[in-house]
Amino acid sequence: MIAGRAPSMPNWVAMLCGWWLGVALWGYFVAFHEMARALVGGFGSPGTSVAFAIAGSIVGALPLLALLPVALLPRWWFGRRVPERRKADKRCPDCGYPDSGFPCPECGGDGTIAELELFARRPIVWLLVGAAVMFVLAVAWAEFRIRQDESRFRSDVDQRVAAGLREAFTRPRAGWGSFATLQYDPAGGFDAPPPFDHPRIPGWRSTERPAP
Ligand SMILES: [Zn+2]
Repeated sequence: MIAGRAPSMPNWVAMLCGWWLGVALWGYFVAFHEMARALVGGFGSPGTSVAFAIAGSIVGALPLLALLPVALLPRWWFGRRVPERRKADKRCPDCGYPDSGFPCPECGGDGTIAELELFARRPIVWLLVGAAVMFVLAVAWAEFRIRQDESRFRSDVDQRVAAGLREAFTRPRAGWGSFATLQYDPAGGFDAPPPFDHPRIPGWRSTERPAP
């Protein structure tokens, strides 16, 4: 939003918008990727699970494109609305200085409202590039958190086994994937099955009821 900024937009507004947008995208992408990983399953972060989850997260990011006009709202407000109001108030459209002839003694503006194309290419490209960078950083952070959670589970199980655990042990994943579980079974080792598996999906096995 900093690129292609309307002249009447204060610096702090541009920075605040950029900051909030970045934080919101970050939170959305981290949450989505942690849920995608939990849905895909797989203990120990196998490459295919990570790849499937990233593909899912990319698909999950696409609906955000519908919010692009919302992200351009400050541009409209400060590029059209504010200058028009100031002009109606007989003030400088660019800086709000009381009308004392043009060029404006405060900012040098000529008193006309600069033509501003709302859906200009540059701010949209900048938004998309920024969102892509946030996506990559958020997925890396989510992967880091998932791996930490799995290694915590592994050392927890190791401790319990050392203390004499002989039966299966299960706990929910940490973070946004807490609807799925990490599992340890003395016979089968570590596992993190997809939580909503179905009998018609190849490779399905019931984790709740033994087969008749
Ligand atoms: Zn001015």
